[in-house]
Amino acid sequence: MYEKITPPTDGEKITIQDGKLIVPNNPIIPYISGDGIGPDITNAMIPTVNAAVEKAYGGTRKITWFKIYCGDEARSFYHPNLTDGELVKRPVDEQRNAYLPQDTIKAINEYLVTIKGPLTTPIGEGFRSLNVGIRQILDLYTCVRPVRYYQGTPTRIKYPEEVDLTIFRENSEDVYSGIEFKHTDPEQKQLIELLRSMGKTINDDSGIGIKPISLSGSKRLVRAAIQYAIAKKKPVVTLVHKGNIMKYTEGAFKNWGYEVAKEEFRDFIVTEDELWKDYNGNMPEGKLLVNDRIADVTFQHILLRSSEFSVLATMNLNGDYLSDAAAALVGGIGMAPGANINYETGVFVAEATHGTAPKYTNMDKVNPGSLLLSAAIMLEYLGWDEASELIHKGLQGAIVNKEVTYDLARQLDDVTPISTTEFGKAVVKHMS
Ligand code: NAP
Repeated sequence: MYEKITPPTDGEKITIQDGKLIVPNNPIIPYISGDGIGPDITNAMIPTVNAAVEKAYGGTRKITWFKIYCGDEARSFYHPNLTDGELVKRPVDEQRNAYLPQDTIKAINEYLVTIKGPLTTPIGEGFRSLNVGIRQILDLYTCVRPVRYYQGTPTRIKYPEEVDLTIFRENSEDVYSGIEFKHTDPEQKQLIELLRSMGKTINDDSGIGIKPISLSGSKRLVRAAIQYAIAKKKPVVTLVHKGNIMKYTEGAFKNWGYEVAKEEFRDFIVTEDELWKDYNGNMPEGKLLVNDRIADVTFQHILLRSSEFSVLATMNLNGDYLSDAAAALVGGIGMAPGANINYETGVFVAEATHGTAPKYTNMDKVNPGSLLLSAAIMLEYLGWDEASELIHKGLQGAIVNKEVTYDLARQLDDVTPISTTEFGKAVVKHMS
């Protein structure tokens, strides 16, 4: 069934039935080490997760890891003799397959839950990035980015402990959908003529990008955010948009978001309008508030009034900026986890959100926090909350005791940095 990889036989597949994940006690979980620092952080992540699962369930649950390939590792594993010169002459699909093999897509689809390190954007034209490729091929329409503060992490803000956000970023639409035309393309000229025939004004030398925001795409994203907020007993879901300017894309996202909230979650939610109209501004017990905010003021308010935010649902571009800005509040990119999910098919890919930091490759130096926290989201997705909490607890213990890698150590006084491997071990030690 697979071309070059063999799934392990000492574990079972995670499956999905009627939208509910069925997780055996010994699930097989594929992992992609990634490029650059990917193997360093993966080598720290796997034993740490194993230790958390062992400690939480005393040996009754265990992950069977399944190595799959993507990025440079895939190219050398599947095409050891292919030169760069030969590769760039091949059709775009083949170029992409060299870095993102069919085996890998098949395994992610079949085993449902995968974790991956960062990937280099490879040479060649025609496809933008492997991460985008994985998201598009598997229709992983939600990017979930939880952002929370761990005491002792160096930060530039005064009240970092107030930051506890989860950003639901739409992953498949917006200006990221790849409908773009160079200012010199013949299609650009046709488009300009069409737009002018509709009475629109546009400069001749414009590059053009199209921003599709669909009803179905917006609703499934907001639905996922509200379901998450209800399950986790979060107080508020905020729809973040720039609908005052882009009425039929960003504004429509907001309207469709409220429609989902009222049509599908009527008994669970109160909108901000209803809060003032029907409840005199006093939030009724046990309900979820659904409100909306303009994107630009949200950037100010997550900084100045962090505690007012809990779950944010937004489109691709806003979500991209907002996720990194929020991560900066609590110590930066080395600590920011993420996961890409299709809630209908159940396919889930947890990932470190930083890049491959190539200058630190194989130095056992960088912070594995982002991948460890991504593993914590993965464990939570499996319903293994106890193991997930142990990772949070261990990480908190390591940081507060100043057992940290170089990136955090350099922002603290008199702290000697420890290695990636040692950090993983410190996390395990502080689980107790
Ligand atoms: P990057 O790899 O994230 O590295 C930028 C800087 O961030 C590093 O030099 C380092 O800062 C710091 N950093 C990143 N990860 C860290 C970690 N785990 N621990 C401590 N510090 C960390 O960004 P880039 O240099 O722009 O991108 C390099 C490659 O990664 C590119 O090919 C890009 O396409 C790819 N990329 C992949 C992903 C992904 O797979 N999800 C995401 C972004 C970028 P200092 O040098 O100051 O120590």
